[in-house]
Amino acid sequence: MQFHRLSLALTSATLFLALSGCSGVAAGAHQAVPAQPANGAADHGGDVSDAAAELGDLGPDDGYIAAGERVALSDDVPAVANLDPALREALQASADAAAAAGRDAQFTLVDGWRSARYQQYLFDQAVAEYGSADQAAKWVKSPTESKHVQGEAVDLATADAMDWLNRFGGEFGLCQIYANEPWHFELAADASGTCPPQLEDGSAG
Ligand SMILES: [Zn+2]
Repeated sequence: MQFHRLSLALTSATLFLALSGCSGVAAGAHQAVPAQPANGAADHGGDVSDAAAELGDLGPDDGYIAAGERVALSDDVPAVANLDPALREALQASADAAAAAGRDAQFTLVDGWRSARYQQYLFDQAVAEYGSADQAAKWVKSPTESKHVQGEAVDLATADAMDWLNRFGGEFGLCQIYANEPWHFELAADASGTCPPQLEDGSAG
């Protein structure tokens, strides 16, 4: 039954990501779906309608991945290239293991490494969205705290990959850290492959 609960959780996550557009909330999506947490808007790139006006000169060199786009682990872009090599290798090893097991899971990313100024932009967006730094911190960390800025976190694009990592990621050191972010993984397992208890959200730890 464990897997049943997992499937339900992932279905919710998939819906959430679909509704949010994952790496950029579709314009007006918040208003259209008020019950959704106003999103990984913060963690995933902000509102599309604001993006063009406010992104300024932020671009791929900052790890920016446009709304609706995703990158592969093999892509030569800063969002991937600037990841901790150990994290990138663990993700590739997981993808290889999933493929070897006959699982058609795409280990693509909507977010990887981000520059500090890109993270600051996301944090500022989140503060505007949620009304306070404390509330924003539930979804996005400051540049000094974000594991994305350190190259030590990725946000996966597909529920298949999230599902695989939730079952087997620990064997490769990979763990979901926050209960409210099923897409966000870091190298956090202990030597026996056990992940730490999930934190409620980004403000919890
Ligand atoms: Zn993340």
